Amino acid sequence: MIKALDKGFVEYIDHMGSDQRIVESARVSYNGHSKGDEKDKKLLFYLYKNHHSSPFEMAKITFKIKMPLFVAAQHNRHRMQNLNYQSFRYTEPEEDFYIPEKWRKQSSDNKQVSDIVEDWEPKMKFSGFNFKGHKDVSDGLNFFCKECVDTYHSMVESGIGREMARMVLPQNLYTTCYSTWDLNNLIKYLKLRDHSHAQWEIQQYAKAMKEIAAEKFPWTFEAVGKF
Ligand SMILES: Cc1cc2nc3c(=O)[nH]c(=O)nc-3n(C[C@H](O)[C@H](O)[C@H](O)COP(=O)(O)OP(=O)(O)OC[C@H]3O[C@@H](n4cnc5c(N)ncnc54)[C@H](O)[C@@H]3O)c2cc1C
Repeated sequence: MIKALDKGFVEYIDHMGSDQRIVESARVSYNGHSKGDEKDKKLLFYLYKNHHSSPFEMAKITFKIKMPLFVAAQHNRHRMQNLNYQSFRYTEPEEDFYIPEKWRKQSSDNKQVSDIVEDWEPKMKFSGFNFKGHKDVSDGLNFFCKECVDTYHSMVESGIGREMARMVLPQNLYTTCYSTWDLNNLIKYLKLRDHSHAQWEIQQYAKAMKEIAAEKFPWTFEAVGKF
């Protein structure tokens, strides 16, 4: 299991196939068989470099991932994975939030990103309180999130359905899913999400998924790094 953010993780569940399976499935095109590690690895590199992607779909991997809801919203956009989430219709949330220690500043020249600015500190007013500095804002967020969960529980106690009460829950609440990928689509995901244009938080998950997958499919991820 690899930790991600303050309380999240990516856990290996299992996988199907291997680098060798990818090569074998490619060789079926002409009824061939393994030609030993060196030639097989060379073929896998050739396949990857030349976008012969379907053999990479013969290998699969499943992760259990705990991530905040706003990261899950980005993760879910990748349609070619198989997903199943914890449901807040069946379970009640705990006080389990992502609380960053450092706040990034909104970039002035790129709407998509926020920057780490060393000599900058966030300042804000909320509910009649003033918050100044990273720790103060984090403590403020923690307080606000607890209020949301308390409101949630009051709504449920009043008889309101969990499926409606959950609308008060904050985006940084952690959720857990199973996420299964074939390697072709996992690599597409990693190229987009283990990338500086992606939000820093989802990058941490992509890096952890890549580290786990690279252990199981070392030739494939050597090819990904090379081409
Ligand atoms: C930096 C960044 C910023 C983004 N910003 C936004 C945003 O502002 N708003 C927003 O809504 N989304 C945003 N996205 C999500 C983005 O638009 C894609 O939905 C997401 O990256 C999934 O990509 P995908 O479709 O390639 O992946 P998948 O859905 O996993 O699909 C994998 C591959 O399968 C094929 N495929 C899957 N479905 C189809 C289909 N219906 N037709 C044809 N081929 C298909 C394609 O080859 C595709 O590349 C952002 C993504 C990134 C990385």
